[in-house]
Amino acid sequence: MKIMKFGGTSVGSAERMGAVSQLLPTQEPVIVVLSAMSGTTNHLVQIGQQLAQGNVAQAESLTNQLEQHYKQVVTDLYKQEASKDKGNQVVQTVFADIRACFERTFSPASEKIILAQGELLSTQLFQIFQHENGIPSVLLPALEFMKITPDEEPDQVFIRENLRKQLEKYPDAQLFITQGYICRNAKNEIDNLKRGGSDYTASIVGAAVKASEIQIWTDIDGMHNNDPRIVKNTYPIAELSFDEAAELAYFGAKILHPSSILPAQQHNIPVRLLNTMQPEAQGTTISSKRTGNKIKAVAAKDGIIAIKIKSSRMLLAYGFLRSVFEVFERFKTPIDMITTSEVAVSLTIDNGTYLPEITEALQRFGTVEIDSDLTIVCVVGDFMEDRPGAALKVVQSLRHIPLRMISYGGSKNNISFLVNTSYKEDALISINEGVFQEKEETNA
Ligand code: ADP
Ligand code: ASP
Ligand code: MG
Repeated sequence: MKIMKFGGTSVGSAERMGAVSQLLPTQEPVIVVLSAMSGTTNHLVQIGQQLAQGNVAQAESLTNQLEQHYKQVVTDLYKQEASKDKGNQVVQTVFADIRACFERTFSPASEKIILAQGELLSTQLFQIFQHENGIPSVLLPALEFMKITPDEEPDQVFIRENLRKQLEKYPDAQLFITQGYICRNAKNEIDNLKRGGSDYTASIVGAAVKASEIQIWTDIDGMHNNDPRIVKNTYPIAELSFDEAAELAYFGAKILHPSSILPAQQHNIPVRLLNTMQPEAQGTTISSKRTGNKIKAVAAKDGIIAIKIKSSRMLLAYGFLRSVFEVFERFKTPIDMITTSEVAVSLTIDNGTYLPEITEALQRFGTVEIDSDLTIVCVVGDFMEDRPGAALKVVQSLRHIPLRMISYGGSKNNISFLVNTSYKEDALISINEGVFQEKEETNA
């Protein structure tokens, strides 16, 4: 069994859906995971924001716009009247569900119901399209098997068992279609895997069925060595190890959801990043294979908050860091980077929800300083300790940029810098010039 995930642009129009259909194998079973059509989730987010502010008229107007768009999609996508009728029926039901949220008092739960509609639309419309073209398929409802725990982690046992039950109903089927991104939470409400979550769905589903391969089809020919939205002359990387890809995804390479590598890695399932617009391109293969001693890529993650705790009591005090970490554990806030000196510890978080509570709790240990609007620039590749000078080029290329923190040696495959967000573009461009310009030959 193979998993093929198609992102928003890949299913963004009638024409794109047709192209996706051409890519599906006919001789082997496949689970196709679809995102919402491009722009839809952003639009749904806006509807939710208007409702949250009590602007029902604005929310209605945005909903009407989106509904008109989908009516046009139905007109463009199908040739037969019967298919158009089915498509319009789907659109009607989905938009009635959105409007039903206008009548209730707005809550995070109704916002999540609204956000789920994009994937519910794309998958149903795609299935009707397949049917019109004589290709049998089964729609697997993600809300029947994708579940997260109270800690918002995938509930692996539930997912495995319930997905199996769904698949067993159709022993002869070859083509399964399911929604990315959406799930149920521990309260059984509709929820989601956060923005970009369809990649995560693909990987979780792949792990649950022990797929032979997880393919992530998108609008670019694989993981590039730098952010192509910011830097010119980036190039795709043919091979990455799971660890390298996980670091890049976690530290901001938008092509992959931050958590999407782990489920594949745990089951040693190769992940391939492929381009729907250029299916013959090699793309990127992510696997357990060691992939050469090069500096591979750089990514950047914004919205970082640095917390510095200064304490004279830290001197020789074992147990100090444990007490600090416990505060973050209590407020379920992961730490990204950490550096220590004898009298202070600096660490970073990207989720400031509990920052006031965390700050208050940390003040017991010493003076606390908070800094925001920071970016982590993470360079990934082979930084084995037996390769002297491997980090030198990177550090040199950043010599004109004030560096707030540096993390090196935590793993063999990355070096990270904390900079003011205003320096991010400069940092990415400078690393490109200093490290990647000579491409394959000399960055080893
Ligand atoms: P999808 O809708 O298919 O999930 P995304 O927009 O989430 O696609 O991810 C693909 C986009 O990620 C690319 O179009 C590109 O602009 C952006 N991107 C950012 N960093 C990288 C990178 N290092 N390599 C490739 N793409 C990247
Ligand atoms: N549709 C969701 C989003 O835009 C999930 C995804 O595309 O991966 O974030
Ligand atoms: Mg994405």
